[in-house]
Amino acid sequence: MSSAISVKALEKVYGGAVPKRALKGIDLDIPQGSMFGLLGPNGAGKSTFINILAGLVNKTSGTARVWGHDIDANPRNARASIGVVPQELVFDAFFTPYEMLEVQAGMYGVPKAERRTEELLKAVHLWDKRDAYSRTLSGGMKRRLLVAKAMVHTPPVLILDEPTAGVDIELRQLLWDYVRSMHKRGTTIVLTTHYLEEAQELCDTIAIINHGEVVCSEPTGQLLARIDEKEILFDLDSPIDEVPADLAQFRVRLVTPTRLSVQISRESDDVGAVLSAVAGSGLQVRDLSTNETDLEDIFLQLTRDPNADEAA
Ligand code: ADP
Repeated sequence: MSSAISVKALEKVYGGAVPKRALKGIDLDIPQGSMFGLLGPNGAGKSTFINILAGLVNKTSGTARVWGHDIDANPRNARASIGVVPQELVFDAFFTPYEMLEVQAGMYGVPKAERRTEELLKAVHLWDKRDAYSRTLSGGMKRRLLVAKAMVHTPPVLILDEPTAGVDIELRQLLWDYVRSMHKRGTTIVLTTHYLEEAQELCDTIAIINHGEVVCSEPTGQLLARIDEKEILFDLDSPIDEVPADLAQFRVRLVTPTRLSVQISRESDDVGAVLSAVAGSGLQVRDLSTNETDLEDIFLQLTRDPNADEAA
């Protein structure tokens, strides 16, 4: 078994006046030990996917295994294998952080001697708040407390659903430091986000989900390389009215009268040829810069679907 999570033909149709096919029979494997990003716009089906794994939503059909445990045949073991940090900051306001982790550990049947309440609170920098009422904590503190809460039973897989919503930059960094350290110690991390830069920075593997379908799932570097477009920008000494004829063979446009953009494919275009053509055209180049393709572009390209049918 090398998958932390493996789903096959997983389908979810929400009932109602207009039934909604939130997951359209997806196949997805999340390798053990990965830092996996599940990216998709709102309504893509990310929460549905997570909630099925967590036992909070019943699937319509298909199979799902968590750490090798089938969620139908072995729901207790499947559930014990993941910790989920939910999107919503839901709390019992009258528990203190210390009590909350103790209660949660009790619910998972973690014996007193094996509880890690102090270690977890220290790890998320809330030890000094251990006796404060949860309702007095800031949004960032609550988020970190939820991470600690999801880890009380030491699950091998930690799922974070949109974990940085409402968390300021500094605390976000703290949260990621902790998530990274858990990952280093062997926890498989799955995070859903539409902060694409975050996924690019943090995740070794990324799946993109859109309209209930997995658009792609592959190592981050490979995904980035799939769209190998690159832009070279030339800043000119003096303004020009039109693109010189020598450059017409390239995908060239005038951004401003003193800025020329050349779009190239890293794979098939020759940067040297572009540079010599520009030099040969008599243009006086003051400066040169390049733009790499980022995940935002890839995401847009892979999920752009002008004929998308919103209704199931
Ligand atoms: P995401 O987490 O990617 O934003 P969701 O899994 O929450 O997406 O939602 C997927 C689709 O299913 C959306 O169209 C959403 O409106 C619909 N949906 C989610 N939960 C329910 C529900 N309880 N009843 C009916 N439709 C739902």
